[in-house]
Amino acid sequence: MKDSHKHQGLRNQLVKTLVSKGITCKKVLEAVGKIPRHLFMDSGFVDFAYQDKAFPIAAEQTISQPYTVAFQTQLLEIEKGDKILEIGTGSGYQTAVLLEMGAKVYTIERQQELFKKTKLFLPKIGYKAKQVIFGDGYKGLPAEAPFAGIIVTAGAPFVPKALLAQLKIGGKLVIPVGDDVQIMNLFVRTSENEFEKHELGDFKFVPMLKDRN
Ligand code: SAH
Repeated sequence: MKDSHKHQGLRNQLVKTLVSKGITCKKVLEAVGKIPRHLFMDSGFVDFAYQDKAFPIAAEQTISQPYTVAFQTQLLEIEKGDKILEIGTGSGYQTAVLLEMGAKVYTIERQQELFKKTKLFLPKIGYKAKQVIFGDGYKGLPAEAPFAGIIVTAGAPFVPKALLAQLKIGGKLVIPVGDDVQIMNLFVRTSENEFEKHELGDFKFVPMLKDRN
């Protein structure tokens, strides 16, 4: 499968849609304008790749809606070289956005099928994460902590303490919290023991599940 002028045109449209919905971070918009999202989706859905919608991928999971990816990424305020942990690798699209922005990315996926597929796929199209890990995101990645940012791309029933503990001072955790509908939470670590919390609207994610599968 290739990238074409047609795809680039559709991507430019998608970027405009994200701007109209309130995304302002230039680096995020550039990343969305550059990444061939159609390559991250099963072939049957290629025609829909540049609509601002979530779509099914393997193992009953979804590739997040571009607006959601952009909204969460924007909250992280990434600087080049920042160490970022992603929970829920899925298709790898969010991983690619983080890499385009110059982050050093560690990403964890609990579904073996998706883990295997995406670990092989990302380098094929030129995206090199520091580590793609088969594991349980509730535990984070203590061996590589602290992180400048942690982004959770599944709906969490609660905020895992391990993730807060793995932020550096000034670091940010972006996590959708709730069961049926999730509220986007942003935590900023302001000192060893203090966190600022912001609630930033309703979203809908597949659930964050325990253990590996
Ligand atoms: N970032 C992905 C979104 C995929 S949907 C993308 O851009 O495509 C959320 C993903 O989180 C699913 O792949 C699901 O298997 C994974 N997930 C759910 N609970 C998890 C956990 N505890 N640890 C790691 N990954 C988890």
